[in-house]
Amino acid sequence: MKFVFLGPPGIGKGTQAKILADQLDLAHLSTGDILREEINQETALGEKAQSFMNAGKLVPDYLILDMISKKLQQNNENRGYILDGFPRTVPQAEGLEKMLEMNQQKLELVVYLSGSNDVLVKRLSSRRTCRECETITNLIFNPPKKEGECDNCGGLLFQRDDDNPDVVLQRLKVYQDQTSPLIDFYRNKMLLSEVNGEGSVNDITGKIQAELKEKSG
Ligand code: AMP
Repeated sequence: MKFVFLGPPGIGKGTQAKILADQLDLAHLSTGDILREEINQETALGEKAQSFMNAGKLVPDYLILDMISKKLQQNNENRGYILDGFPRTVPQAEGLEKMLEMNQQKLELVVYLSGSNDVLVKRLSSRRTCRECETITNLIFNPPKKEGECDNCGGLLFQRDDDNPDVVLQRLKVYQDQTSPLIDFYRNKMLLSEVNGEGSVNDITGKIQAELKEKSG
C-alpha cells in the first residue's frame, strides 16, 4: 500500500498520516519532518533547506527528489508507506512516478484533505509541536492538559518558525501556486479521493479509513 496525503499546510496531513500509518503498519515519510531533522543535525542538506523553509518557500525539487529517493530505497521493500507533504510540485510528482515505475510499483491512492484558508490560518498560528516526540497539538482546537507540555510524553511544546503569521500566508500562497495543480494531476489519473479536513481528528480519520477501504479493497 502506497498512499500520498495531499493538501494545504495546516489541514492535518501530518496528524492523520501518523495515526493511519500506526494503524496500518505503514512507514510515515514526511518530507517536512525529514528536513527539520536534517536541520537539527546540521547536515549540508539541512543548511541548504533552512532559508527556504524559514521564508515559507519550497525547497528546490532536485534536493527533495534526491532525498526522497534515498528514503524510499532505505524503506523495507515490502513495507507500504504514506507520503506526507510530498510531492508538492508537478515535477516532484513526475519524479515519484519514475521512481515507482523503475521498481514496477504504483500509488494506490492520493488522499486530498481540503479546507478553507480561514481555518488553515487559525490552525497554523495556534499549532504547537513537541520537541521530544513531534506530536502536534493545537492551543485552540486541542489544547494540552498542562500548559506548554505535550500530552503524549510531557516534552516541551514549541512553535515552528514557519508557523508565524507572515510565513503562514506565504506558505498558503505557495501551496496555491505550486502544489494545488497536483489535485488535477492526480484526479486525471483517477487516483484522487477528496476528504474535507475541517472536522474533528477522529471524524476525519474515519472518513479517510472509509476511502482507503473502498479504494484499496
Ligand atoms: P511541512 O512540515 O510539510 O509543512 O513542510 C515545512 C517546509 O518544508 C515547507 O514549507 C517547505 O519549505 C519544506 N518542504 C517540505 N516538503 C517539501 C517538498 N516536498 N518540496 C519542497 N519543500 C518542502
